[in-house]
Amino acid sequence: MVYKWHNSIKGAIHVGSHLGDMVEPSQSKSNLIKSFFLRVSDLLNLAMSTAEKIECAVIGAGVIGLAVARALALQGREVIILESEDAIGLGTSSRNSEVIHAGIYYDTGSLKAKLCVQGKLALYDYCESHGVTHQRCGKMIVAVHDGQLEKLEALQQKAVDNDVNDLIWQDQQTTLAMEPALNAVASLLSPSTGLINSHALMLAFQGDAESAGTMIAFNSPVLGGAITDNSIRLDIGGATPLTLDCEIVINSAGLHAQRVAGSIAGFPPEMVPGTFYAKGNYFSLAGQSPFSHLIYPIPEEAGLGVHLTLDLSGQARFGPDVEWVDKIDYEVDPAQGDKFYAAVRSYWPELPNNALIPGYSGIRPKLKGPGNPPMDFVFNGPAEHGIQGLVNLFGIESPGLTASLAIADEAIKRLK
Ligand SMILES: Cc1cc2nc3c(=O)[nH]c(=O)nc-3n(C[C@H](O)[C@H](O)[C@H](O)COP(=O)(O)OP(=O)(O)OC[C@H]3O[C@@H](n4cnc5c(N)ncnc54)[C@H](O)[C@@H]3O)c2cc1C
Repeated sequence: MVYKWHNSIKGAIHVGSHLGDMVEPSQSKSNLIKSFFLRVSDLLNLAMSTAEKIECAVIGAGVIGLAVARALALQGREVIILESEDAIGLGTSSRNSEVIHAGIYYDTGSLKAKLCVQGKLALYDYCESHGVTHQRCGKMIVAVHDGQLEKLEALQQKAVDNDVNDLIWQDQQTTLAMEPALNAVASLLSPSTGLINSHALMLAFQGDAESAGTMIAFNSPVLGGAITDNSIRLDIGGATPLTLDCEIVINSAGLHAQRVAGSIAGFPPEMVPGTFYAKGNYFSLAGQSPFSHLIYPIPEEAGLGVHLTLDLSGQARFGPDVEWVDKIDYEVDPAQGDKFYAAVRSYWPELPNNALIPGYSGIRPKLKGPGNPPMDFVFNGPAEHGIQGLVNLFGIESPGLTASLAIADEAIKRLK
């Protein structure tokens, strides 16, 4: 057991070296070192006690788990994050478009719509106050022929219904004046769409959480557990398995959240939704981007269409597409490139041959398979399953990064 917790301490030391760059000027290094040693002694106490108990366990150190842990710790609660990998953010949180979404597309009244709009505002404020690299670069949704104008108008209306009131309708002349390389008959400009460095965001959440006393246990997969009379018991694997009794558990295990919920004895199996994976592949553009805005086509089933996003250095990438898969495999098949050329040339006809290079991929945690209408985020808490202290987060696909701060607040509300 001690070896296991030593591993966690090693993880915390690793984190501490990042923290040096992230602290606010007002936080002195000596405070940081003091709080770091307190964390170490907490871990040792935990390791030596016979019955390991903790107030809150957050499963998963992706952007959602880190945001939830931060929010719980800022309320003064005792928190541990259990992460199966040896670092933060190795899942979907580092395999996405890094776009701060405006909140245009989602069904009006849905959690996705509400939490995206709330989360976007909170996220811009957070980035400003915590020095997280971001850019309010704006995006254009383009109609490439007259037949798409009706859909573009419908999107504009949906945005208004979702409280996104800053979209600007642009005719062909204005559109092409802004982005001359485009093929478009009209566009919607979304000025509040932006880009964010997702890893910097996660480091900032981690820094806040740790400064408020959160411990992170890496290499600590949750293998199962049980609902007991007065706690939620988690069985944790890794080098030295242990069992932890928790008052509160937030399951933010991303693609594995259903498996984790299903492995807790006493949790009603009918409450565990299906698990479906929709892979999104990206291709990078060799050479300079002719665009300075993010360019989105009219959305398609299960995704937003093969769009052009930029990274914070202005390098362009295209994607993600939608490829339904049975297992988690992040390899990008170069053969998918043909489909990309066709999709991209609909709005950028001059895309040169051989300009697309296979990039990376991410996997959307879908709750329904192909052909189904989009599902909302699912917060599965005591109001749904009747077990005090347990909230499962299912189907946290896009716009989960944008909405992360709002999702964390909502998850905590659902504990009641
Ligand atoms: C292709 C793609 C593009 C996207 N683009 C955007 C975008 O531009 N903007 C946006 O807002 N959103 C976007 N998203 C959505 C966003 O990336 C996700 O909503 C968000 O990253 C989900 O974070 P998470 O913490 O729930 O999951 P993850 O990042 O996957 O974290 C889950 C963590 O749980 C850990 N874990 C799993 N099982 C266990 C276990 N048993 N025990 C302990 N730990 C465990 C994993 O190792 C992982 O670290 C995109 C998603 C995809 C797939």
